[in-house]
Formats: sequence, structure tokens, C-alpha cells
Amino acid sequence: MRRRLSYGYLTIPMPELFNLLPPDEAIAVLLERIGGVRTGSETVLVSSALDRVTTKRCVSPAGLPAFARSAMDGYSVRAADTFGASDSMPAYLEVVGEVPMGRAPQITLGPGQVAVAYTGGMLAGAADAVVMIEHTHSVGEATIEVVRSVAPGENVVQSDEDVRAGQDVVPEGHTMRPQDLGALLAVGVTSVEVARRPRVAIVSTGDELVEPADEPGPGQVRDINTHTVAALVERAGGAPVPLGIFPDDLEAQRGAAREAVDCGDIVVFSAGSSVGSRDMTARVLAELGGPGVLVHGISIKPGKPTIAGLVGDTPVFGLPGNPVSAMVVFNLIVRPVIRSLMGASEPATSRVVPATLASNVPSAPGRQDFFPVRLETGPGGLVAEPIFGKSNLIFTLVRADGLASVSLDSGGLYAGDTVHVTTF
Ligand code: AMP
Ligand code: MG
Repeated sequence: MRRRLSYGYLTIPMPELFNLLPPDEAIAVLLERIGGVRTGSETVLVSSALDRVTTKRCVSPAGLPAFARSAMDGYSVRAADTFGASDSMPAYLEVVGEVPMGRAPQITLGPGQVAVAYTGGMLAGAADAVVMIEHTHSVGEATIEVVRSVAPGENVVQSDEDVRAGQDVVPEGHTMRPQDLGALLAVGVTSVEVARRPRVAIVSTGDELVEPADEPGPGQVRDINTHTVAALVERAGGAPVPLGIFPDDLEAQRGAAREAVDCGDIVVFSAGSSVGSRDMTARVLAELGGPGVLVHGISIKPGKPTIAGLVGDTPVFGLPGNPVSAMVVFNLIVRPVIRSLMGASEPATSRVVPATLASNVPSAPGRQDFFPVRLETGPGGLVAEPIFGKSNLIFTLVRADGLASVSLDSGGLYAGDTVHVTTF
């Protein structure tokens, strides 16, 4: 079906995108074809492994804590010496010394004896509990009264209570968080095997583009997408390889595409992804080799003219040039592919929060409409305030806290509906 645009004096056939795929299907088609392709692994220091994805599970070589530790400042005691103690009938106990931090105890308690204990320090020999300092009073040189009884083990972190030798610290396919780094280092594991970051070659196309540092002439605009896409690649765990700006010229783009396939695990073309006379991305990507373009057009707004395919094992994408569309489409279909190449097993780490919609949002059924929202804290939880404006204005995203969407089968949302906001 070709629509015809009539300008009165001439009629131009306007090509259209056929076979729009719903976004979920587009992702499924790609991920299925990519299957088990991985970027391989490398060993890095745990201290610099934040956000990297493990390619092996990590097992603790040791238990933690390695020794029973006091959980409080106070006195290590033989719990039985405190039984029955209360404000009206304190237990009087003798302070025989202290166990310094970072040292083994030099003291073993006899009946009725206690030793000063610090949070994280070892207990005195024969002690089996710790009395909090708040539950004691000093009475004279070396005597305290204890006004609360403690059970054996109370206020003590037992050895191996955190983790036992041989237990998993993190599974394979896990994205390393600050606490994971801390846990591995705590048990003496200082390096870890992680997925190599997929290199994502970025090609920006368009005769109108100039470098951000340059002054645009009439009709020219500064290149946004090279830099927003590179930033999104980093956030996804990949390594951006920006190749620069290329004109709407077949030869120039063929050269860029070949270079991109050579140096990238993934190729991202920006702009020229539609079917107009100046849109050559689909043709250029198809010429690179099979299987070629698998998806051309997805039923979303913004972002309909999207291309996804494979050249050999290399996923290739054509993102729409509109910077908002490019970002929406990146998060929807490029990010999952980057995560898949690393073998990341958990769902995307981008955060989704429920919020109550503050106003009606119209939409056409048959496509998934994304819209930017500002989040505010209301009495009943988060409120999502849609930011209206043409969907190609980058500042709608700058002013937003996240994106919500109207699903494919819905004709719109009402104020008061719950939406799920993917926060930036
Ligand atoms: P296209 O996808 O080539 O039809 O471009 C759609 C719109 O996005 C046009 O207004 C382009 O000028 C704009 N555009 C394309 N590439 C970029 C870019 N890298 N940075 C900013 N705007 C762009
Ligand atoms: Mg263009």
C-alpha cells in the first residue's frame, strides 16, 4: 500500500514502513537470533568491577566473620553471670581488662568477671555474650553493675554467620553492585572474571550535522546522538566507539559501516533509518552481509523507523535521528542486546517505579506510546506528571524523571491510572 501525497502540481508516491513489529517481538526476534553469542571474558580487579557482569559464579574461600565479634560497645561476659539482673537487682561484676580492637584476647574470664568490649572486637576467653554499655553503671574502680540479663550469644556475631566457606557470593551473569565488591574483598577475593564490555561502534549520519564544538551554519544542527548513544552504551555496560559524523552519501556510509563492523561487537547507525530518498541506513546495513535486516519498523512512538539486524554474529541497528526517538529505541532494543552479549541474567537494572498519572494521556491503539513524566511525591505515593510537547524535543527528556508508556492495545490513559515509570 502506497499513500500518495498530493501537492496539487505534482503527486509523489510516499513509501511506508510495512510489517511494523511490536517492540516485544522485535526484541525477541533479535535475542533469539543472537542466542548464545557472548563477548568473552576477562579478569579484572574486584575493586574496579562495579557494574561488570560475572561470567562465573564466585564462591567464598573463607567464612566470615573469621572470629566471633562483639556487635556492641560494652563488656564481654559469661551470660550466666547476668541471669536475673534487673534495675532493682543488678549483678555486680568485676572488670578485669579490655580486649583491644584488632587483637586476640589476652584475658580469660573467671566467674563474675567481665572485660571491656568494642564493636567488632573479639570476646574475652570464656565469654559467650556481650552486655551493652547502656545497660551497665560503673560503681568504683573495677566494678560495674549490670541491670539487664543477656542470653548466651546475645550481641555477638558468630564466626561464619555472614557467609560460610564454599557458599556462593555472587552467581554467574550477575551485575556487580557496591555490596558485592565489598563482600568479595572481605573474604580475600581480589579479582573476578567478568564479561568483556561489548564494543558498540556508533555512526552518526546526516548532511546537517556539525560537531557540538562548532557553530552550526544555516540549516545545520549539532550532533547529539553520537554522545547520548555513547553515554547510554556506557550505562548499559558496553564500551562506546564513536566513529564520527558521516554525510548522507552512499559511499561514505558504506565505508563507515565496514569500519563499524570491523571494530564493533555491535553497530549503531543514527538517522536515515526511514524509507525516504535520503534514508540509506537500511540499504547500507543490508549490503554488509547476511542475515541482514530482520526488523524495519516497530509499532512505537516515538521511534517507529527503527532497523535491527545481524551481519554474521554482529547485531546492527539503525536508530531514528530524532534524539528522543534514538534514546527511547536504544533503551528498548539495543540495551537488551548489550546485556545479552555479556550474559547478564537479571532483568535490566533500570529502575521501574509505579506512579499515579496526574492527567489524561491520549494515544492511538496499535502502537506503544512513550511519554516523558516528571515524578513528584504525593500523599499516596509517587505522582507522574506527563510532560507535553512534541516528541522530538530533547528538553522534554531533560525536564523529565523517566518514561511511561501507553500499551499497544490501549487508546489512552486516564488521570488516576497507575503507570510504570522507567526512571532515567
Ligand atoms: P532522520 O532520522 O535522518 O530523518 O532525522 C530525523 C531528525 O533528527 C532530523 O531533524 C535530523 O536533523 C535529526 N538528527 C539526525 N541525527 C541527529 C543527531 N546526531 N543529532 C541531533 N539531531 C539529529
Ligand atoms: Mg537524516
